[in-house]
Amino acid sequence: MSQSRRDFIKFVVAGSVTAGCPIDSTLLAAPPDAAAGPKIESEHFEVCHQIRDGHSFDQPAPTQKTAIVIIGGGVAGLSAAYFLRGQDFLLLEKDDHFGGNAYQEDYEGQPFATGSAFAYRNDYGDQLSTELGLKLLPVNNPDPTIVNKTFVPDTWKSGIDQLPYPKEVRESFRKFRDDIMKIKNRERVAELDSELFTKYTAGYAPEIQQWWDGYGPSNWAATTQDTSAFLGIASLQDIASGGEDQRVILPGGLGCITHKLVEVLQPQYKERLLGNTTVVAVVPEKDEVRVAYYRENKLTTVAAKAVIVCVPKLIASRLISGLPAEQKAAMQRTRYAPYPVVNVIFDKPVYNRGYDTWCPGNAFTDFIVADWTVRNTPGYHQKHNILTFYTPLRENQRFTLLDEDNCKRLASHVLADFQKLLPEFDANPLEVRLFRRGHPMFMAVPGQFTKNRIVAAQPMDRIFFGHNDSGGPESLTSEAIRFSKSAAEWSAQVLAGNPSAKTVAQKALVASD
Ligand SMILES: Cc1cc2nc3c(=O)[nH]c(=O)nc-3n(C[C@H](O)[C@H](O)[C@H](O)COP(=O)(O)OP(=O)(O)OC[C@H]3O[C@@H](n4cnc5c(N)ncnc54)[C@H](O)[C@@H]3O)c2cc1C
Repeated sequence: MSQSRRDFIKFVVAGSVTAGCPIDSTLLAAPPDAAAGPKIESEHFEVCHQIRDGHSFDQPAPTQKTAIVIIGGGVAGLSAAYFLRGQDFLLLEKDDHFGGNAYQEDYEGQPFATGSAFAYRNDYGDQLSTELGLKLLPVNNPDPTIVNKTFVPDTWKSGIDQLPYPKEVRESFRKFRDDIMKIKNRERVAELDSELFTKYTAGYAPEIQQWWDGYGPSNWAATTQDTSAFLGIASLQDIASGGEDQRVILPGGLGCITHKLVEVLQPQYKERLLGNTTVVAVVPEKDEVRVAYYRENKLTTVAAKAVIVCVPKLIASRLISGLPAEQKAAMQRTRYAPYPVVNVIFDKPVYNRGYDTWCPGNAFTDFIVADWTVRNTPGYHQKHNILTFYTPLRENQRFTLLDEDNCKRLASHVLADFQKLLPEFDANPLEVRLFRRGHPMFMAVPGQFTKNRIVAAQPMDRIFFGHNDSGGPESLTSEAIRFSKSAAEWSAQVLAGNPSAKTVAQKALVASD
């Protein structure tokens, strides 16, 4: 896109790259070098790195007591608070808003997703939505592909015959699908989860790996060469057998659930849901856990009987004292991809042909139509056509997100690539918004599902490890909610002094959808 054309479009960059910060440097025993580290939206990276490196704080004595502290206000933390309604809980969230990676924004009242997109019929996200009075609607036309200026509906079923590739490539797609369908995935979970998906894509047309190199990073943060074969195979089996047709959602993606949770909880529990509050240390003692948090320029310690940790394991490993070495190492082995999401807002219909459209070989992997499931409901008028583009990055690209100009450059590449996909896409949007996140999605690498997370998420006497990265096989809102349900059961046992609490937590680690 030319510079002059770009100048007419409004680009907005939001979100923050680090997690677990900010923290006032005066709280540190040795203040960092004032000249060091780039600043972004008040987050000081030098200080964050000190926290990461295990810098110790002078923790004040507890001035507050509560039965249960919940750390993190994403869907895991919020749903834990929901399941603990009526009890003495305190939720601490570092951002100025709740929702984490399931957060919706809106343009003139029209919601769109900045992260998590859809649930499956009857999964824990769908069940909770129903309980909250939200009716998630079914997705049709789930997975078209646009490649070589051709729109191909239903890529892995009837679409294979329409792929704009030479005949032998289409045949390779068909053979790959048919070969994968024969694998008894569920019976070989441990074996397949220790292998790379590339073992199974090798020997077929390279266009197949190119397709999965978009699908994988978008859904589970890893390219084919980093993906667990179990997950790659399970996904294709699901798509080709029509399981993907079970997807459900409303505009705003799964941010509609966190939005509703806040709406339901806040009137009664305003004082118990604290935003702009960063937990900096969690110290287990014999009869309580001391949680130090930073809020309004002040460090406070609250003593709790039970703590539910709903932040990524990478952050948990830096906050919690006394973790067994093996568990800490497993937490730190969990890998996360940086993941910006770009929303492009048009004032006229530009694209309404499929829900989640895959576009191999572009600056984005796929894009969704924000109001896809409501656009045809009687009385609904699509005022703006809002398209949400997924642009997962490699781990070594994380630092490109620190710079606003880099973010704008990425957003304008997304727009330029979109405009070239099909001739009718050459339209200018009203606005382009990029929401950046540094460590939002754990990578579904071999062993993460069957081995690493089991070690990383072992409960401590008074600490439960929730968050979606306790589950799997990929990063799922449903898994975050499932763990929060168990966390509520676990905390009841801990508060009752029942030693079987540990068993409740361990049961959650074994079960999976
Ligand atoms: C781009 C994208 C698309 C996705 N699409 C889907 C999808 O279609 N379907 C699906 O099921 N899942 C999807 N996911 C995954 C889904 O978003 C997550 O599984 C879910 O939102 C995770 O919720 P969580 O509460 O476990 O964690 P998070 O959302 O990571 O929440 C953790 C919270 O903890 C807070 N926090 C961190 N450190 C601290 C601290 N020190 N003190 C206090 N608070 C702290 C953070 O600010 C955050 O709010 C997607 C994820 C991304 C990034």
